[in-house]
Amino acid sequence: MVIKRAKTQGFCFGVAITVKKAEEVVARPASNVTTLGHVVHNPQMVAELEAKGLKNAHSVDEVDSGTLFVRAHGLPTDVFEKAKAKGLTIVDATCPMVTKIHVQAEKLKADGYKIVVVGDPSHPEVKGTLSHVPGAWVVQAPSDVDALPRGSRIGVVVQSTWSGTGFTDIVKRLSEKYYEVRAVNTICTDTHNRQSEAEDLAKDVDVMVVVGGKTSANTKHLADLAASHGARSYHIEGPDELQPAWFAGVARAGLMSGASTPGWLVDQVADRMDALSRRAV
Ligand code: SF4
Repeated sequence: MVIKRAKTQGFCFGVAITVKKAEEVVARPASNVTTLGHVVHNPQMVAELEAKGLKNAHSVDEVDSGTLFVRAHGLPTDVFEKAKAKGLTIVDATCPMVTKIHVQAEKLKADGYKIVVVGDPSHPEVKGTLSHVPGAWVVQAPSDVDALPRGSRIGVVVQSTWSGTGFTDIVKRLSEKYYEVRAVNTICTDTHNRQSEAEDLAKDVDVMVVVGGKTSANTKHLADLAASHGARSYHIEGPDELQPAWFAGVARAGLMSGASTPGWLVDQVADRMDALSRRAV
């Protein structure tokens, strides 16, 4: 079996920066570092960082001392304020691509546009973006546009890991309803590359394995995308989940990963796929 690996795999650059910074901060003497929510959507990486001392809390209210580590998704502005008021040291590892979304949204608002954020309102990144443009509307599907109030000038930004086609369809529907729509495609380059590689690779293989945390929306989306482009797709967190039957009679298999999956884990999956395919023949 030939294993065709996507060009873009392992950590995206934003997660790579976050993980490096987290490792540096927890290695400091007497470090007392807490992050809100897991630092990456990857159980192996989370376990590794927790073993090095990184703590995890649900809310800043639970953190009374030490350092608050801000992961790549960023945090809402009021959480930053609370952390400052509590005297916490803040290490901000918000991905520069996410900060760019905040800046673009604020700029559109200052220019008089009513802001629409395309994304999942329960996603931490979107919560952070909304805090920069209070009163913005959130849209997840073209049909959501029908329920929006009337208006004239609409400024649009999009969650960094959203699907490109989903964004285009929503902007099209907004353009049909409003007089002026100014949309900034803030889907990050890494997401764009992984999505287009998932589509291309899926057309060329029988089976696609996508490695990433089960809570990672971008990984799940890659697996769905590959399935919709013709490959039998499996979303796994690690090599132990692979099953020999998946590769029986398969000549070409694809392998890719979500943005928060370390490269070494993808290598382990590749090795195991290779071993299993030999057993399955
Ligand atoms: S997926 Fe994109 S926006 Fe999110 S952390 Fe990675 S590079 Fe940054």
